[in-house]
This record gives sequence, structure tokens and C-alpha cells, in this order.
Amino acid sequence: MPGGLTQAQAYAAFADAIDNITKTYNDCGISDTVDAKSSYAGTSTYEADINASSQCTPRDEQNTWDAGDLAAGHLAVTCSWTVDGTTSNLRELVEADVRYNTTDNNFTNSPSSSCVNLYDIRAVGTHEAGHVFGMDHVSAAHPDLTMSPSINACDTSDRTLGRGDYLTLEAIY
Ligand SMILES: [Zn+2]
Repeated sequence: MPGGLTQAQAYAAFADAIDNITKTYNDCGISDTVDAKSSYAGTSTYEADINASSQCTPRDEQNTWDAGDLAAGHLAVTCSWTVDGTTSNLRELVEADVRYNTTDNNFTNSPSSSCVNLYDIRAVGTHEAGHVFGMDHVSAAHPDLTMSPSINACDTSDRTLGRGDYLTLEAIY
């Protein structure tokens, strides 16, 4: 698990990150009208279907968050699988997996004032949960949005969405 967390602590951190998306916690005072939902199915021996080169591998029909090795330079990766939608022209999500790269990076669940070179599990997780729920990256010209392509060490600001993140979720859900 990232940050040396126990499985229970990691679950709490991942759930918080996912809630930041489904409940659209934001910096802008916008109330949540997004219908995205999640539920926790329990611990598993399945692994995220993502290999050490950050490539998506064949899906196993389990939505899994875990930690392991990814391509250097990647803090975390989300792989998602979709099918043609039955009721709209949007794709329907059938599986999404998230892996933190704990081989090449160090993480923390609560960056302190002396934090150096540790990435915030929930900020990274909120960004990855954004991918799970169908959001792509915005350009690097919008560094304050959760879906900007990079994050600084010790930075927790991506735990809360910006207006652009919110509007994207609102458009999908
Ligand atoms: Zn990303």
C-alpha cells in the first residue's frame, strides 16, 4: 500500500479520494448535483490490471486499487474499460483499476510541514478517481485543476476540485 498504510488505512484514503469525485468537493462553493456513485465491495486478492510499463492488461472484471511498479515518471495510473452506451452516445464504464507507483515514489497520507518528496495519497487518488469517472487531463495551463497532468510533492490541493473539474463531471453525470 502507498505510504506504508495498512489495508484498512489505505481503504479509508482511497474511499476519501473517490468521495472527492462523487461528492464533488470543490473550492468554488458549488453544491453537488453530480449523480456519480461508488460503493466498496471489500478487500481482494485481485490486482489492478496494469503492468510495470504502465500498460493496461486484459481486465479481470474487478475494480481494484493497489500499489506496485509502474513506468518511471508515473505516480499512479488508471486503466478503464468501456463499452458502447445503451441509452446515450456516451461510453459506459465496465471496469476501472488504479495502481500507485510505490517502486519509484514515496507517498504520505498527511503531508507535514517538513514534508519532502512525498506525494499525497488522497490528492493523487482524487486525480485518479477523476480518470475512473471518465475525466481526461486538462492542459498544463490549468495547474489548479485536479485533472491537470502533474502534481507537486507534498501538495494536497488536488483533493478539492476546481470549477473545470466540476463542470466536466456535471456534463458526464
Ligand atoms: Zn492523470
